[in-house]
Amino acid sequence: MNVSNRSYSLGYLALAVLVMLALQYYVASLTIDTLAYSEFKTLLKAGKLRDITLGESSIAGMLDTAGLDQVLSAERAKALQHGAAGGARQFATVRIADAGLVTDLDAAHVRYAGQPDSRWLGTLLSWVAPALMVFVLWLVLARRMGGTMSGLTEIGKSKARVYLQKQTGVTFADVAGIDEARAELMEVVDFLRTPERYQRLGGKIPKGVLLLGAPGTGKTLLARAVAGEAGVPFFSMSGSEFVELFVGVGAARVRDLFAQAEQNAPCIIFIDELDALGKTRSLNLAGGQDEREQTLNQLLVEMDGFDPNKGVILMAATNRPEILDAALLRPGRFDRHVVLDRPDLKGREQILRVHVRKVRLAAAVDLHALAARTPGFAGADLANLVNEATLLAARHHKDMVDMEAFDQALDRIIGGLEKRNRIMIPLERQTVAYHEAGHTLVAEHRKHADPVARVSIIPRGIAGLGYTQQTPAEDRYLLRRSELLDRIDVLLGGRMAEQIVFGDVSTGAENDLQRATDMARQMITQYGMSQSLGLPCYERAPGPFLPGGAASARGEREYSEWTARAIDDEIRVTLAQAAERVRQTLLAERARLDGLATLLLEKEVLDRAALDAFLHTDATQPAAEPVLS
Ligand code: ADP
Ligand code: MG
Ligand code: ZN
Repeated sequence: MNVSNRSYSLGYLALAVLVMLALQYYVASLTIDTLAYSEFKTLLKAGKLRDITLGESSIAGMLDTAGLDQVLSAERAKALQHGAAGGARQFATVRIADAGLVTDLDAAHVRYAGQPDSRWLGTLLSWVAPALMVFVLWLVLARRMGGTMSGLTEIGKSKARVYLQKQTGVTFADVAGIDEARAELMEVVDFLRTPERYQRLGGKIPKGVLLLGAPGTGKTLLARAVAGEAGVPFFSMSGSEFVELFVGVGAARVRDLFAQAEQNAPCIIFIDELDALGKTRSLNLAGGQDEREQTLNQLLVEMDGFDPNKGVILMAATNRPEILDAALLRPGRFDRHVVLDRPDLKGREQILRVHVRKVRLAAAVDLHALAARTPGFAGADLANLVNEATLLAARHHKDMVDMEAFDQALDRIIGGLEKRNRIMIPLERQTVAYHEAGHTLVAEHRKHADPVARVSIIPRGIAGLGYTQQTPAEDRYLLRRSELLDRIDVLLGGRMAEQIVFGDVSTGAENDLQRATDMARQMITQYGMSQSLGLPCYERAPGPFLPGGAASARGEREYSEWTARAIDDEIRVTLAQAAERVRQTLLAERARLDGLATLLLEKEVLDRAALDAFLHTDATQPAAEPVLS
C-alpha cells in the first residue's frame, strides 16, 4: 500500500512541476520581449537599453521603446512597442560567446551586473524528470514482480554490510529478575575481560552460548549486556537477515561476519532469532530450501573453524529450540544453553524497579503489589506496563506516575482499550454485571481459587464486555486436581449466574467455556486425573515456550475412536458436575449476587478494597433493590 501511494504522489508532483514551468514560460513570453542578439547589440549602441543583467546563458534588462523605428525596421519597432510608443519594457536575449560585449557595455555607459544562472531549475529538472520516471517505472515493476527486485538490489550490499556495534551501552544493571542466567553468563564476561587466566590453565571456553526463552524474556537484552559488561564490540545479526533470495548470499554473509569478528577480537557475535536460520534440515527433493541450508552449513563450518581462545564468543537466541537442527546443538557448537524463565514474583518486582528508574514515581506506588498482579508477564510486558502508565499519567497532566495510572495501564494491557462510547442496552449491562458478579462470588467461595483483584464491566477490546481479574497469591508450578476443579468452577460462575437470574443464557460466556473445556481436557488427556480413563497420557504438551510450538505433537491422535469418545464424555461429565456445584453456591448466595451486580452497575469497576467492603457487610440484611422486576 505504501509503495503504490508513494509512486502516485511522486507522479503528481512531477506533473505539477511541469505545469508550473509551462505556465511560467507562457506568462514570461507575454511580458518580456525576446531580442535577437544582433538587435541587442544595435539597441545597446543606440543607447536604448539600461539596467542590464548578465546571466550565464541569457541577458535581460529594460528596453526604452521610444524612437525605436530610428534604429530598427518599422515593423519590428512596432512589434516591440506593443501598440504604445514610449515607456520601458523588459527584454531578454540569448547570450552568445562575444569577447567584445563588456567593452560595448562600457562604451554605452549602462549599468550592468552579473547574475547566477537563473535557469538552474530547468537544468535540474532536465536531470530529475527522467530519473523520476525511471524510478516510478521501477516501483511499478517491483510491485508486479512481488518483491524480487528488491532482492536484486540487495546483492551488492552483502560485502559492504557492517555488523559492528562498538558499545552496546547496556550492562547487567539493566537486566533484572533472571539471576541464574546472569550468573551463567558472568563466566563469559570474565573470559572476555581476562582471557589469559583461562588460557594459562589450558581450559577451553565454550564456543557458543544459546539463550532460550519465551519472547520478551530478555534474551537480546542479556546478550547486549554481556558485551557491554565486558566492554567488547558486539556483532549482531538476526537469523532472518541471512536468508536471501539468491543461493550463496547468506553463506557469504556468514563468512563475512566471522571474518570481521576475527579482526576485532575479543568480541561477541550474536545471532538473534537463530531458528529462522537453523531449522532442521530436511530431505528436500524439490530443493526449495537450498539457500537456507547452505547458509546453515556455512555457519557450522565457521563455528568449527574459529578458535574461541582468540576471544570471539558466539551467542545466539531462540524461542523455538525444538526446531533447531541437531548439528547446531552438539558439543563444540552451541553447547552451553542458558534458559531464561518468565520472571517470578520477586523477579517481576526487580524488573519493574529497573524500568521505573527514569520515571517520576509517586511515593504511593507499590511495585510489589503490581508484581503480584502481573503473573505470566515477561520482562518486555513489564517494560510496556511502565511505559503505558507513564503515558497515561502524562495524558492526564499528572506530575507523577501514580498507582491509578498503573491500574489503568494494566486494565488496558490485559483487557484492551476501553470502549466507553460503545452503547450497551440496559439489559446487556445487567447481564454483564451478573456474569462478572458470578465469577467473583464463586472465586470468593472456592478455597483454592485465586482471589479477585478487580472486576470491571467497562467494555474493552480484548476482554469483551467485562472482566474479572484474579491475582494468584504466589507463583505456581504444580497444580492439584482440587485446584484445577476450583478454577473450572470460577470459569463457569459467569454462565451459571446468568442462568439463575435470567433463566436464560447469553453468548458472553464463550471464552469462559472454551477455557474450562481446555482445562478439563488437559486434566483427562495429559495429567491422568480422570476416573474412568486412568493414567495414560493421551496428548502431549506443545513446545515449551510457544503455544502450539511443536508441530509434530499436534493433530496426531495416538488413541482409538473409543478413547476419543470416552474423553469427550468425561469432559462433558466434568463440566456438568462443576456447573451443578456452582449453581448450588450461587443459589445460596443469591442475595449477595444481586447486591454485587447492583454495585457493579453503579460503579463499573471494583477493586479489592471495594470488594472487601461489600463482602464484609452483612449479607442477610436486605440487599439493594434487585435490578430486575
Ligand atoms: P527477547 O529478545 O527475549 O524477545 P528482549 O531482550 O528484546 O526480549 O526484551 C525486550 C525488552 O523487554 C527489553 O528491551 C527490556 O526493556 C525488557 N526486558 C525484558 N527482560 C528484561 C529483564 N530481565 N530485565 C529488564 N528488562 C527486561
Ligand atoms: Mg529478541
Ligand atoms: Zn466470563
